[in-house]
Amino acid sequence: MPYVYRCRQCRAASPPGPRRDAEDARREHRTTEHGGLAPDGERIEYVPGSARHPDGRYVSTGGLIAGLVLLAVAEEIARLWGR
Ligand SMILES: [Zn+2]
Repeated sequence: MPYVYRCRQCRAASPPGPRRDAEDARREHRTTEHGGLAPDGERIEYVPGSARHPDGRYVSTGGLIAGLVLLAVAEEIARLWGR
């Protein structure tokens, strides 16, 4: 679950990591660069990548495997009927 904290005013971004790390980076950045104030346009973003995101997939892995098994079974039935 890679998240980055971005400050658009400073054009700065934290390294991707867990959301808690991005929140820590936000707090530290606000303190050190903006005197503890929240800068306009700052945000914590989800970075699409190799990590799984529940909303980012249209087909679940389990559904895909079930579909392949169903195809294999159907092929076997067709083969047995074909003789
Ligand atoms: Zn900033």
